[in-house]
Amino acid sequence: MSEHQGRGQDYSLEGDSELRFEIEQKDAKVVVTLVNGFAELFGTELVKKKKYEFGMGAKVAIFTYQGCVLHVTGKMDVCYISKETPMVQYLNCHAALEQFRMEAEEKDRRGPVAMVVGPTDVGKSTLCRILLNYAVRVGRRPLYADLDVGQGAIAISGNVATILIERPASVEEGFPKTAPLVYHFGHKSPSGNSVLYNAVVSKMAEVTLQSLNGNKRTKSSGIIVNTCGWVKGHGYAHLLHAARAYGACAIFVLDQERLYNELLRDVPSSVHVVLLPKSGGVVERSKELRHECRDQRIKEYFYGNARAPFYPFSFEVKFQDLRLYKIGAPPLPDSCMPIGMKAEDNKTKVVAVTPTPALIHHVLALTFAESVEDDVIGTNIAGFCCHRSGYGKASRDATLAAAPTTATERSAAMVRAAVHGQPYL
Ligand code: ATP
Repeated sequence: MSEHQGRGQDYSLEGDSELRFEIEQKDAKVVVTLVNGFAELFGTELVKKKKYEFGMGAKVAIFTYQGCVLHVTGKMDVCYISKETPMVQYLNCHAALEQFRMEAEEKDRRGPVAMVVGPTDVGKSTLCRILLNYAVRVGRRPLYADLDVGQGAIAISGNVATILIERPASVEEGFPKTAPLVYHFGHKSPSGNSVLYNAVVSKMAEVTLQSLNGNKRTKSSGIIVNTCGWVKGHGYAHLLHAARAYGACAIFVLDQERLYNELLRDVPSSVHVVLLPKSGGVVERSKELRHECRDQRIKEYFYGNARAPFYPFSFEVKFQDLRLYKIGAPPLPDSCMPIGMKAEDNKTKVVAVTPTPALIHHVLALTFAESVEDDVIGTNIAGFCCHRSGYGKASRDATLAAAPTTATERSAAMVRAAVHGQPYL
């Protein structure tokens, strides 16, 4: 490691090692340049001499198989080189999936569906990103299904979503999130409504598996499925449900032997269950930080980020022109249910909501369903809106808005809206 006064540092990495760093300070900026050799960030290759900029909240690892020299400027809170990484094992998983894909291509069959499971903060999303990047780097076109309603990275938390991956993730911003297929769930943990969660996952699996038939390359590339970190009790039952719904052929279990053994016991023997170590670099997040990450993702959904900001605009809609619903009615004992209905059916019931001040600060999903007679749960959503400011005395209108103006701030009921449109699968 050599230091150039005021001009940053050069880090020489041997093969199979990685430079890990974290940035926690506000307004801090770290610039990384690959000077020599080959390196990648969670599976995306770095371009030599190109400057990559990272800001507050970044927790990254730049890995090299062959060895490299990195030039880094800026202040980091943590920065070290590690030679202990599970990257070779992750690469082997990719190689195994490639075998399935080649076979699928030859026989015009569906490619592998691989699920990544494990407790919270073990690097599930990162492993998905690595596997997807490796797949597109060898010319595949896989789907990425994110069933993690707690920290959903494609839409916002509380939803399950799928996108088509056509190129490697951007080093600084990850995968583009345009045109996802999103189903609304409405809670930040599957425990919020287990019946609904399973219904939404089944629908997502059904639709995406069906969509694979529409494109030969995607069909043989298969799906990488990310899951929630809730792996005990009902959480485990949700994982089994998802594995069944997707007909998973491989399950990668990160860092938990207990879960690995339970899955070995409970899934058919044709499913390959593989135990993988977590990377020592994965950063644990406190409850508060998870909360902050969710808020940050919602803000980004509406306003974009510094590199690609969104400038949403406002318009008014009368409440009488809106139809507001929530999914799931309060539980009733079986004896009170109409003949032929079970208490469970209440959990997926679409119930009308009257606009009241209680809606303020709630995020609402805009559905493509045209009426409640449609399959609302099984219809993908167009976008989200957020009720932000207080109700006035007289007005009963909502402002469908997104511009951060103080003028609209005063309107009776303000709703911020952003749409992602129809999915491109
Ligand atoms: P969750 O339980 O919330 O879904 P997760 O298991 O999906 O979490 P990740 O989101 O993949 O975990 O990783 C947590 C954090 O650790 C992320 O900010 C990621 O960038 C960081 N991280 C992952 N791998 C490494 C590594 N090798 N070195 C440094 N940081 C890493």
